[in-house]
Amino acid sequence: QTHPVSKRPSSSSNTDVISIDSDVDRKVDSLLSLMTLEEKIGQMNQYNGFWDVTGPKPKDGMAAKKYEHLRKGWVGSMLNVRGVEEVLSVQKIAVEESRLGIPLIIGFDVIHGYKTMSPIPLAEAASWDLQAIQKSAEVAADEASAAGINWTFAPMVDISRDARWGRVMEGAGEDPFLGAKIAIARVKGFQGEDLSKNNTIAACAKHFAGYGFAEAGRDYNTVDIGTSTLHNIIFPPFKAATQAGVKTFMNAFNELNGIPATGNKFLQRDILKDAWNFDGFMVSDWGSITEMIAHGHAKDGKTAAEIAVKAGSDMDMESYLYVEHLASLVQEGSVQESTINDAVRRILKVKYELGLFDDPYRYCNKERERTVIGSKANQEAVLDIAKKSIVLLKNEKQLLPLKKEGQKIALIGALASDKNSPLGSWRIGADDDTAVSVLEGMQEYKGNTLMYAKGADVSVGKTAFIKKVKINATDTSEFNEALKAAQQADVVVMVLGEVGFQSGEGRSRTELDLPGVQQELLEEVYKVNKNIVLILNNGRPLAINWADKHVPAIVEAWHLGSQSGHAIAQVLYGDYNPSGKLPMTFPRHIGQTPMYYNYKNTGRPVEPDPDVVFWSHYSDQKNSPLYAFGHGLSYTTFAYEHLEVIPVNTSHKAPKIEVAVNVTNSGDCEGKEVVQLYIRDLFASITRPVKELKGFEMISLQPGEKKKVRFVLDSTTLGFYDNDGHWVLEPGEFNVFVGGSSDTTIKSNFEIQ
Ligand code: BGC
Repeated sequence: QTHPVSKRPSSSSNTDVISIDSDVDRKVDSLLSLMTLEEKIGQMNQYNGFWDVTGPKPKDGMAAKKYEHLRKGWVGSMLNVRGVEEVLSVQKIAVEESRLGIPLIIGFDVIHGYKTMSPIPLAEAASWDLQAIQKSAEVAADEASAAGINWTFAPMVDISRDARWGRVMEGAGEDPFLGAKIAIARVKGFQGEDLSKNNTIAACAKHFAGYGFAEAGRDYNTVDIGTSTLHNIIFPPFKAATQAGVKTFMNAFNELNGIPATGNKFLQRDILKDAWNFDGFMVSDWGSITEMIAHGHAKDGKTAAEIAVKAGSDMDMESYLYVEHLASLVQEGSVQESTINDAVRRILKVKYELGLFDDPYRYCNKERERTVIGSKANQEAVLDIAKKSIVLLKNEKQLLPLKKEGQKIALIGALASDKNSPLGSWRIGADDDTAVSVLEGMQEYKGNTLMYAKGADVSVGKTAFIKKVKINATDTSEFNEALKAAQQADVVVMVLGEVGFQSGEGRSRTELDLPGVQQELLEEVYKVNKNIVLILNNGRPLAINWADKHVPAIVEAWHLGSQSGHAIAQVLYGDYNPSGKLPMTFPRHIGQTPMYYNYKNTGRPVEPDPDVVFWSHYSDQKNSPLYAFGHGLSYTTFAYEHLEVIPVNTSHKAPKIEVAVNVTNSGDCEGKEVVQLYIRDLFASITRPVKELKGFEMISLQPGEKKKVRFVLDSTTLGFYDNDGHWVLEPGEFNVFVGGSSDTTIKSNFEIQ
């Protein structure tokens, strides 16, 4: 039998490929017509390779089975296979030993870098710098593709409002508008202009949908939310990803309003594939088809496979249920072969677009692997984005920037010398302990005396990706040494927060404090020296009320990746002026969570002071956050003046409202500011949030320089989704707010007819 992709040598020679139609869809169809039902189902089957196929010791009987299935052409994709050699070892079997020789698509969690790590995605979101975020994804794609990978399970575009949820570190924060812009930047970065190049990879928007709304912030928990939140908050970044041409989607572990996302036809077919015309494929989350049994939705594996495939899950990640049951489901007539064909078409199409049929080994270039991964250019790129991700939360007593000479500086905290934690969670391609620590970064500034004392550990024992974070440390025996250093110092720099694996998948917390005895350490140090600069390393918003009240300078430095220590030192010493803005609200207390800036008013009267709402408040805490969404300072200051609203067209059919504001650098050094625009639709058929971000622009100003920043509001930003998912624009009055944070009070208004 002739077939379009036949056994071929390991080189890229295409000699025994018959000529086929140029159009990808026709190529796919012609290949599909040659496939047996089992081979088709094989394309929908994805196996993990990390531990039991390519690993040194096969863990269970699955290894042999996986090899057998590879040879039969019953595997369409593998994940967690990485490095040219490993990828070649499985790709060669698929291409050279299976009947049709269809190449595998090789997936991997390239979440914020492959080996050269960028900041965690939440940190990058704090840059509000779409070009830098795109560049970071390009670097990740560059290195992953050099390691044989051609598909990343990123970006995670789940909106979340709950800092307890460990996976907030992996997303872009709480806002759908910013989240959508960042989703587009990341998809573009991974996929590039041309997916068939060997330095671009397919992206995956995940987890569809609602995963970030797990009840009580506990990972995988039930999600029960209204349609308004689904359409207006959760969907926008996913929709934006489809518009940016994302090739794949991943569904989610959670159930949504009673139906597991994996078996959810409304989500996967009605919304994604029909309403949004998504023509890529949907991969299940790890074992999520099987999980429908535990959810109480499918009574056994066979039913789970049937529900999932009908609902639109095209590829089974590690449930083994498609390969086991789909053929008999088709033969019995419970599943139509056309459903299988649709899934396989989608998968093959992406493989064609990746150029895998032209050369299945295009990602297996050892020279690229040797030269690209960890290159100087990539290290420089991640340093740049790391600096941009830092948020200056507070800066009093002019402690920052630090003087470069003649100072005695005490550096305190286990995280200050930690070379692992800055790599963050989700960095399975990276080598442990390879980040530049804060200590190393600061040691490069030689004009001061630097005294380092750990003070206390954060957690006990070494943590790793698949291990649970050990118990928080309780040992205070090294406090004294830290206090001695603090006593002698002009300035104390304390690096406190969470270890790298304290956030991420399965890392939910019930406290948002500084884990272990770090708060105690901070308070003890404060007693002997009040000139503290607190550097936070963390993968989620923390509730640091005490620190905000007492500590004069606070820098949010997240987990910043491979170049973390350099980025932090450059900011501390003023060689880089911070411009980051929070992509998530920081509560005062965990009891306020879920907390977000775009909340709705209650029916109770609100005073101008947001903390005074008649009876709708806490008796022991304010309503307002500690740091608002969008907050972030600079070493200079910015003055906003002359907010102008120009109603060019006020018809709700085609509204056009121009907004302009003058921003002046009123301080004494050059700086960048993210100018933010929010609206409020005062009365609507579906109540609207008190503020919604609808525009932002980053500007750079010299001292004394002034710029007019302009925005346009139109039908894409002035409407909202009704409860049927239709975009509506209603006449009425709007407020418009402009400023450097969501708590700005600079305001004007306009009316739509
Ligand atoms: C996660 C996904 C990830 C997958 C593969 C799952 O546990 O939820 O986000 O892509 O594992 O590693």
